[in-house]
Amino acid sequence: MSQNYYELLGVSQSASFAEIKRAFRVKAKECHPDYHPGDADAEKKFKEINEAYEVLKDEQKRAAYDRYGHDAYTRGMGQGGGFGQGFGQGFGGFDFTGTGFENIFEEVFNGFGGRRRQAATNRGNDIRYDLTIDLADAYTGLKKNITVDTFTKCESCNGKGGKHLETCPTCGGQGHVRQRQGFFVVETECPVCHATGKTVKEPCSTCGGTGRVRKKRTLEVNIPAGVDTGVRMRLSGEGDAALNGGESGDLYVFLTVKEHPIFKRDGINLYCEVPVPMTTAALGGDILIPTMDGKGETVKIKPGLQTGAEMRLKGKGMPVLKSGSFGDLYVIFRVETPTNLTSRQKELLAEFTAAGQDNQTACSDFLAQIKKLFQ
Ligand SMILES: [Zn+2]
Ligand SMILES: [Zn+2]
Repeated sequence: MSQNYYELLGVSQSASFAEIKRAFRVKAKECHPDYHPGDADAEKKFKEINEAYEVLKDEQKRAAYDRYGHDAYTRGMGQGGGFGQGFGQGFGGFDFTGTGFENIFEEVFNGFGGRRRQAATNRGNDIRYDLTIDLADAYTGLKKNITVDTFTKCESCNGKGGKHLETCPTCGGQGHVRQRQGFFVVETECPVCHATGKTVKEPCSTCGGTGRVRKKRTLEVNIPAGVDTGVRMRLSGEGDAALNGGESGDLYVFLTVKEHPIFKRDGINLYCEVPVPMTTAALGGDILIPTMDGKGETVKIKPGLQTGAEMRLKGKGMPVLKSGSFGDLYVIFRVETPTNLTSRQKELLAEFTAAGQDNQTACSDFLAQIKKLFQ
């Protein structure tokens, strides 16, 4: 297909979502298989318009489409036109029990433009779902219900598209056709029967002969402990149903883990800045350190603690995916200088100063250095 998606829907590139939706409805009606039974051109057009709408209605897909251009985008997506097919590599093989799906974790690689899926025959589109969770949820793991709006198999015709299936006259039931391109003969998916090898004489009235309908479904996603921003989960077969009963696409849940007000995360380790009263820093004492498990841990600090001093609490970081072990928590202390002193406090500190400051070595060393430099 060389016509770009905006042209297909007859809208400008700056069209709003409402304009796109309106244009899609008009165009889809014009060439809906219900009104053109047996018309292969209309069916092809209907498929193309749906494909264009799939991309342009989704903010992220549309942005990628605008950025990479029609040819690059569709090439990156593979022949089936499915989002996410360009992410083909790097499956982590992470399976876990508790859901009916095959769940696989992986890092996001280069985004679009990956390798082409081979022989993408009549497969439903992959769907992306963005999910943001709290750091606390990433720490414990959680089950989460998400609602997705996808094409699902039409129940009325069991995905077949209608009654009276006939051997497709275009491909003779092979599901693919051969075309000469210069010196080569190229085998492609049959555009009439979408590789099923069958055509429908009486299209199903529920799905207009496509074998699928749009439906909102709620799925339970089992998010294990230790996930991070950029991790995506694949729910196999939970994407769009294919036209006329082919293989369904996958659903990809892209995770974002929110920033935490106290803990900063770097991979499996956590960082936390902890204020210490000036007097405790000088005299030493107990300081309560917050931990992600909610228990907290009291640590002893030695007299003479300085701002910037670090302490590592082993195993108090984030859980490591798949392993059952934990990262570490790095505490960075910050000594707090009191403000708005009462007169009594001032009195005491004046007395403290009068008792001598020889042990404030950084200050006296610095002073000595300055003296040397300017003499
Ligand atoms: Zn149907
Ligand atoms: Zn065919």
